[in-house]
Amino acid sequence: SKSLQKGRSLFFNQQIDEQVKRDFLIESELRLALLEKELSLNYQPQICVKTSKIASVEALVRWNNKTLGPVSPDEFIQTAEDIGMIFEIGCFVIEQAISDIKQFNNNSISAIQLSINISPKQLIEPEFLPHLSKTITSLDFDASLITLEITENILISDLNKIQPILIELRTLGIKLSLDDFGTGYSSLRYLGNLPLNEIKIDRSFIDKVLVNNQTESLVKTIIAIGQFYDLTTVAEGVETKEQFDLLRSYQCDLIQGYYFDKPLPVAALNDKYIT
Ligand code: C2E
Ligand code: CA
Ligand code: CA
Ligand code: CA
Repeated sequence: SKSLQKGRSLFFNQQIDEQVKRDFLIESELRLALLEKELSLNYQPQICVKTSKIASVEALVRWNNKTLGPVSPDEFIQTAEDIGMIFEIGCFVIEQAISDIKQFNNNSISAIQLSINISPKQLIEPEFLPHLSKTITSLDFDASLITLEITENILISDLNKIQPILIELRTLGIKLSLDDFGTGYSSLRYLGNLPLNEIKIDRSFIDKVLVNNQTESLVKTIIAIGQFYDLTTVAEGVETKEQFDLLRSYQCDLIQGYYFDKPLPVAALNDKYIT
């Protein structure tokens, strides 16, 4: 009926209204987040399948805002890109992560690697490389312990612009990982042409690896392709022993996911993993 429809559209309008308000708040609060020290980092361990030991951690940014509460990076990284804040936020992530893992490694018998997510807009910012190399130098960190995770979509967006930056990063000794592998516009050609060290199999495949034969074949094939190109293979979003056992049987190199650990605050990481 008409009144029901009216009620419904009122409801949807309200929903849209709420979303618009939230987006607006996210935008305005994000501008102040660094100043207010609302950003922090968690670290999720990546376990070496061969040794069963921690090999590296992925730094994942967290935002806890006084009004909004915790906001997921899936929600605010895009906004940060849109409002031109991603470079600054990225600088915070780089400095904090390198400083935390430098300390971890100083206190631990064996050094771990550090993976940092870099968004496309951040990578093509002219100050990105100078800032990164300055941070590595001033914190006296070993550049070869750093892996930058980039997504496939970056590659089609501006390959001519991106390629020289990637080569320069590799010249510094920094490693490169192709994140969310299999979800984007990846072409096998990239794997041979780009200076990559690692591919990360997207969580959406790992989710289905035990229930869908096609997905299982695909994951097996991705690992084989990685091995063919001499790339480290990482599976993300591994939640169960069954998934882990299967990936181990395919000789996937590194496993990341709730089966081992959630992303941890640095104090918890240190408590649990410093040896
Ligand atoms: P991503 O790079 O694909 O990171 C993996 C996401 O999967 C993380 O979500 C992680 O917490 C989650 N995860 C890990 N293991 C499991 C599991 O076993 N099960 C499930 N269900 N989830 C798992 P998070 O931390 O919310 O980050 C979301 C995305 O935000 C990241 O996806 C990345 O694209 C982006 N992001 C996070 N931190 C940064 C950052 O510092 N800079 C940039 N540019 N992007 C970031
Ligand atoms: Ca990542
Ligand atoms: Ca990913
Ligand atoms: Ca993702």
